[in-house]
Amino acid sequence: YQTLAEADPEVAKIIEDETWRQFSGLELIASEASLPVVVSPDHLLTMHPTLQNLTSLAVMEANGSMLTNKYSEGLPGARYYGGNEHIDILENLCRDRALKAFNLDPKVWGVNVQPYSGSTANFAAFTALINPQDRIMGLGLPDGGHLTHGYYTAKKKITASSIYFQSFPYRVTPGTGLIDYEQLTTNAGLYKPRLIVCGASAYPRDWDYQRLRKIADTNGSYLLSDMAHISGLVAAGEQNSPFEYCDVVTTTTHKTLRGPRAGLIFFRKDKESDMEQRVNQAVFPACQGGPHNNTIAGIAVALKQAADPAFKAYAKQVIANARTIAKVLSSHEYKLQTDGTDNHLVLWDLRPLGLTGSKIEKICDECHITVNKNAVSGDTSAQVPGGVRVGLAALTSRSMKESEMETVAAFLHRAVQIALTAQKEAGDKLLKNFVAAFSNKDNESAKLLEQ
Ligand code: PLP
Repeated sequence: YQTLAEADPEVAKIIEDETWRQFSGLELIASEASLPVVVSPDHLLTMHPTLQNLTSLAVMEANGSMLTNKYSEGLPGARYYGGNEHIDILENLCRDRALKAFNLDPKVWGVNVQPYSGSTANFAAFTALINPQDRIMGLGLPDGGHLTHGYYTAKKKITASSIYFQSFPYRVTPGTGLIDYEQLTTNAGLYKPRLIVCGASAYPRDWDYQRLRKIADTNGSYLLSDMAHISGLVAAGEQNSPFEYCDVVTTTTHKTLRGPRAGLIFFRKDKESDMEQRVNQAVFPACQGGPHNNTIAGIAVALKQAADPAFKAYAKQVIANARTIAKVLSSHEYKLQTDGTDNHLVLWDLRPLGLTGSKIEKICDECHITVNKNAVSGDTSAQVPGGVRVGLAALTSRSMKESEMETVAAFLHRAVQIALTAQKEAGDKLLKNFVAAFSNKDNESAKLLEQ
């Protein structure tokens, strides 16, 4: 037996460097939550002593296990391969935990835990619900929606969700940044979509599912919630639950839910429409082959952790941290989409400063602060958008609270000052040192920044 370092030092080194990048800087990507272990738990703990309370070590162990060796096309009790007695138990356990995590009655709701990712979960769910070239309405990408909700550009249909379905996006109100439910009501009445998709990648407020259900019912549409970004917060009871009003709910498992990278599809077990069979067959064989059993094991572990009271405290802290960042940025008179946040992310509109999100992303990158450029409503370019998205799930995993958020917001403020004053080189170096000191828990040196 050879360790990875012995068998392939090149890859081992890349993994070690990336691990160090994640821990020596500030991870503010809204779709990243848990901090993975790569070399070994012991190795990581020596690298960063504050990690001892992180539950994702267990998730990583399951995800890197022998289960990756097994083929298991089909469902528990109905496989196309032998030798699946343990895998059947695992998949059933994962399904039970998924329903429990969201307080769902197994007589009413079922779940498929096999999707490889959020994108395949969405495409499989669309395949189950509607026919090719049926009409869909999802939140537009520049308004915070996801690519898989029907996105296309003026020149081209660039996603499968716009190639295989007819798509007409709804929008946020330009002034407030809030979903324009009025216009959605009018446009859905005209367009008569077969499917309305709610959920987003960059929307800092909660959803009015009751209102969406009414719009869907009026027009004979299915209602699907893609709660990928907020599913951990929903599980913790910190956001509205989409389950009361939606026909199907999809999610990724690796954002606020803190699992490995994958997807889930929840469906109502409606006998008349045979939704259970439609969803299961849409996943396999329509869109996928054999399930990734190691990932399913990681999801099961993450779902167990999500049921723990400590997870509720984590979710509350994520929101408190996001609100603190929003408060400090607002105190500097920066413009935030919707003027604040109710969830794990802040969407920062840099256009009034004459800056682009790309510029701030670049400066932050050089200073070991990882954010992503993001479209804000009215933007026309996804390549050079006018905003930055800041997510607080990963830093909260590192036990950071409101006081640390004040420092993080000060770093972000500093990055903007650097961009505005063209002191780029000197400023970068200073900020880089501050971030390194802060990230290594030398809070005192970092606080010097505020002076
Ligand atoms: N749905 C939403 C709302 C997302 O934000 C994302 C990813 O960021 C996805 C789906 C796609 O997930 P994946 O990257 O796992 O395909």
